[in-house]
Amino acid sequence: MKYKCVIVGAGPAGMNAALYLKRAGIEVIVIEKDAPGGEMLKTSDIENYLGFNKIDGGELALKMSQQIKSLGVDIVKDEVIKVSKQDKFEIETKKDVYLADYVIVATGRTPRKLHLLGEDELLNRGISYCAVCDGGFYRGEDVAIVGGGDSALTEALYLSDLCNKVYVLVRKDLRANEILKARIKEKDNIIVLKNVQVEKLGYEDKLSHIILSNGERLSIKGLFVAIGGEVRLDFLKDLNLECINGYIKTDDRMESSIKGLYAVGDVRFKDFYQIITAASDGAIAALSIREDV
Ligand code: NDP
Repeated sequence: MKYKCVIVGAGPAGMNAALYLKRAGIEVIVIEKDAPGGEMLKTSDIENYLGFNKIDGGELALKMSQQIKSLGVDIVKDEVIKVSKQDKFEIETKKDVYLADYVIVATGRTPRKLHLLGEDELLNRGISYCAVCDGGFYRGEDVAIVGGGDSALTEALYLSDLCNKVYVLVRKDLRANEILKARIKEKDNIIVLKNVQVEKLGYEDKLSHIILSNGERLSIKGLFVAIGGEVRLDFLKDLNLECINGYIKTDDRMESSIKGLYAVGDVRFKDFYQIITAASDGAIAALSIREDV
């Protein structure tokens, strides 16, 4: 099967790329191994996507997929196992082989978990993997964030303007950049605890406290986990793509180091991982392809 562009992944980035390509008259198909929506499907209340005061993640995902399907875009349920390039890209899935001039990789990332007892159960009831998405629910409360990288400190700064106390829990030492480190030092309500891990989540219906590896008990309402994400790129290994810290490196047009292969949303290396920025990446990739065709 031949298409001008094959999009791998139907999160907001992939779906917005499909919307722009289809409207520009470019033949496109979206391949998704699960239901359309990506990480949005695991989010209950979204309050930072323009146009909706508050919307359930599943509902927003459904609206997006319905919109692109109504334009005639096919979202096929299948898994891409290999992408290679000769003259055109060959996209091999479990069920088929597709040929395309352009490929947009929009496969997202899965937030790394702590793997603690109760972690899954407490999602949206004390545990969060996105401070910008969920910080507002913990206004005025004491919270903690796990991680010592750029994401953890960026999120700690964000939370410090909303919450009472923000504990930053680092298993060894901070590895974030010096600018972020200097900024958190200036914040009176950010407390960095080094050489600690979270050992136990304390909860009944909602999170109430955590126990640390040094025995300390912290009463908190929210625990934000910012310990990196897992990006799956095994299906691209034949292409020798340039990556940064395991994320695909792109230029401002979302093109990777391989001509014709674009990366959008959480799978690419960037500063901000949000639904709106993922959707924006998708639009930029599609418009760049339209100019190139
Ligand atoms: P990183 O991989 O950079 O950092 C992960 C952090 O989580 C580390 O402190 C690590 O500790 C810790 N960690 C990992 N696993 C565990 C665990 N099981 N328990 C406790 N702690 C754990 O991820 P980020 O998401 O912070 O950043 C991803 C990329 O995005 C980076 O390249 C970053 O530079 C970039 N970024 C840049 C921003 C900016 O410049 N404004 C903002 C956000 C991201 P340890 O050090 O011990 O391994």
